[in-house]
Amino acid sequence: MKSWISRPVPQLPGSMPALRLFDTTKGRVVTLGATGEQSMYVCGITPYDATHMGHAASYVAFDLLNRAWRDGRQQVSYVQNVTDVDDPLLERATATGVDWRDLAASQIELFQTDMEALNVLAPDHYVGAVEAVPLIVPAIEQLVERGLAYRVAGSDGEPDGDVYYDVEAAGKHSAEATDAWTLGAISGLSDAEMLELFAERGGDPGRAGKRQALDPLLWRVARAGEPSWPGGDLGEGRPGWHIECTVIAQQYLPAPFTVQGGGSDLIFPHHEMGAGHAYSLSGVPLAQHFAHAGMVGLDGEKMSKSKGNLVLVSRLRAAGEEPAAIRLAILAHHYRSDWSWTEAGFAEAKERLRTWRAALAVAPAGSAAGLVSRMRAELSNDLNAPGAVAAVDEWARTALADGRAAAADASDAALVSDAVNALLGVDL
Ligand code: ZN
Repeated sequence: MKSWISRPVPQLPGSMPALRLFDTTKGRVVTLGATGEQSMYVCGITPYDATHMGHAASYVAFDLLNRAWRDGRQQVSYVQNVTDVDDPLLERATATGVDWRDLAASQIELFQTDMEALNVLAPDHYVGAVEAVPLIVPAIEQLVERGLAYRVAGSDGEPDGDVYYDVEAAGKHSAEATDAWTLGAISGLSDAEMLELFAERGGDPGRAGKRQALDPLLWRVARAGEPSWPGGDLGEGRPGWHIECTVIAQQYLPAPFTVQGGGSDLIFPHHEMGAGHAYSLSGVPLAQHFAHAGMVGLDGEKMSKSKGNLVLVSRLRAAGEEPAAIRLAILAHHYRSDWSWTEAGFAEAKERLRTWRAALAVAPAGSAAGLVSRMRAELSNDLNAPGAVAAVDEWARTALADGRAAAADASDAALVSDAVNALLGVDL
């Protein structure tokens, strides 16, 4: 599928020090090896609703990582999926009387326009679930052949043949290796916690005929009124969500790739199960590191479709708000923290953007290099964007307090502008 267009990233003199990033699975900050080649997979949207601030913050977070790597002279391979067929999309299409394909196409278009506006660098491969079906089917067939997946008999109006991943068998299968996956390896959650989240986040713990409550769906056989694709030995149907990401990542990235990213609501079951599938298929871990962005609320409340309190990037844009200000409002919060979008926070970001721009006009000679080093130090420390923003604030305050336009230096102004663009993705 076509991706969006990245804006050019200015090259800065010098380079980023070694990057340190919080690894969810290890529960601590780790130093990423500067091997010259880095690879990242960030889970994409299910295109049934426009990009809300939570999505935007998550993609901006991993865009910071992408930019930090590039500044450190690393080659980055970046892949993102789009779950262009899944239950929520089909439900929304039915509820609104729109063809599911048209709904998906329109929301993918809107998402990509939002990403472009927010200056998020595009993935090298942007891959839809539908186009990946021919890769996903043989992967599931292999899991069935190896006894790591099984078909469930029909009951309660469900047809025969849905295929589930056997988490227990998969854990035993790989138990000899030191880097093997067993259930809980990624999330570190207890059985009780996993069960609760599984039910909350689209799992079906009560489905009759499953071997374990936490076994996730791999293949849903065709139902009347639902789209389906040829599934070889599996029969007509469509793929589950976790296997979709695993197969796309394995197709387009090295194994293991460097960082699997997403919002913290993807830790379980999505990233847990995806890592299991990958290990079962290839015998090597899916990713070296798992990193997660916090959740964004509105005025202290959880942002959700059911509450009708989604802050949409497209709506802000339509109201004439500048995307750079939206991005700056996001960057005022550390990517791992849970935070709330507020009018006051947004007003502060707009004011900050005006201040930075005013300061550029009086950038003191010799002031830029020190600022760039400080921004790099902050960002190399677990992508501390608020620290980098504070460094620019301080620089701007000094420049404006000095206020001697005569001592201003155009090359310093250009370097500050380039650094803010290259490292923070904010166009001044
Ligand atoms: Zn995913």
